[in-house]
Amino acid sequence: MSFHPSPPVSLYDLTFDQLLGTLVGDGLRPAHATTLWRALYRELDPAPNLRADFLGPLRRWLQERWEAPYTLTTADITTCISSSDGLTRKLLLRLHDAQEVETVLMGYPGRFTACLSTQAGCAMGCVFCATGQMGFVRHLTPGEIMAQLIAVQRLLRESGDALRNVVLMGMGEPLHNYDAVMQALATACRAPGMALGPSRISVSTVGVVPGIVRFTDERQPYSLAISLHAATDEERSALLPVNQRWPLSELIAACRYYMERSGAKIFFGWTLIAGRNDTPEQARRLSELLRGLNAHVNLIRLNATAGFSGVTTEDVAAAAFQKSIQDAGIPCTIRQFRGIDVAAGCGQLRSERTKPRKVASMVSEEAV
Ligand code: SAH
Ligand code: SF4
Repeated sequence: MSFHPSPPVSLYDLTFDQLLGTLVGDGLRPAHATTLWRALYRELDPAPNLRADFLGPLRRWLQERWEAPYTLTTADITTCISSSDGLTRKLLLRLHDAQEVETVLMGYPGRFTACLSTQAGCAMGCVFCATGQMGFVRHLTPGEIMAQLIAVQRLLRESGDALRNVVLMGMGEPLHNYDAVMQALATACRAPGMALGPSRISVSTVGVVPGIVRFTDERQPYSLAISLHAATDEERSALLPVNQRWPLSELIAACRYYMERSGAKIFFGWTLIAGRNDTPEQARRLSELLRGLNAHVNLIRLNATAGFSGVTTEDVAAAAFQKSIQDAGIPCTIRQFRGIDVAAGCGQLRSERTKPRKVASMVSEEAV
């Protein structure tokens, strides 16, 4: 019988309580767990096993166990593309099994937002999405989600900047990888580590209804965004196959449940596609659908992808759509082209990377 040693466990995959339990179980004091947690998530130390300033027991614990059984998640930046104004950086991170995921950093000094991936690929198959077009590969672990945050925090530290917001709008469907996502977010919010504010973290879902109900029941403190994109089942199912499983009536009922329980508003994302979902009729249906809900609509420009022939709505039609929603008393914002919508094209860098010319043109578009 051949012997297969277990692969090392990433410290980034442990909750604080797991780390504490492990260290205390090995005879260390609880304070060592706090020291190590701070080194990982506040100091962003890539090699805590080499620390000379740790007290003897923790130093020895790390040295004796490094690589077997413990290590850190590797997420090497293989590609980093900046928009020409330098305000948006798209990173491609390579994971231990050569899977690549995208992470985007965007914003202004003092107002940086990180856009994280939660899966390699995505099972939801939305027709206009580059990630959906590549299909599902695998879930990311909590440590792989944290590794993306650590990569962007290191970049920001180089320029003396701080991260303000986090959106889970990269590759993958967060509520399809619920446990790992919630563990990573709890890690990101924990003091004395990264200590991000939960209200500055936004979870975006295509409408996985049981996940929304669980998110509500667990009273998760993060903001919720729903990618709606269409206000009739017919049109929504054509764009988002997930609508066949959880149609609009169930989705809106889950949204209502969330709003009633949490008292929070929901951000509804709407990617404008000319002639498909930008018509006065869809605007009217959308206003009807959201009537009485504490909703905010974010209109997003469609980024062209290889597998979808739709084109984005012209400015005049987008403004008319926005006005129609606002006239119904619902706050509605058009996202700037280089804002969240750049991240909304997540999956594009990975699928375009083998075609350098296309990447170049995508970058100049983003710089608008
Ligand atoms: N799976 C989650 C989060 C990741 S996608 C979700 O669907 O909400 C993040 C956002 O990007 C979604 O609103 C999605 O509809 C949008 N998006 C995906 N592809 C896009 C594209 N080509 N152009 C514009 N927005 C896109
Ligand atoms: Fe998945 Fe979101 Fe893309 Fe749909 S839009 S395929 S849910 S990543």
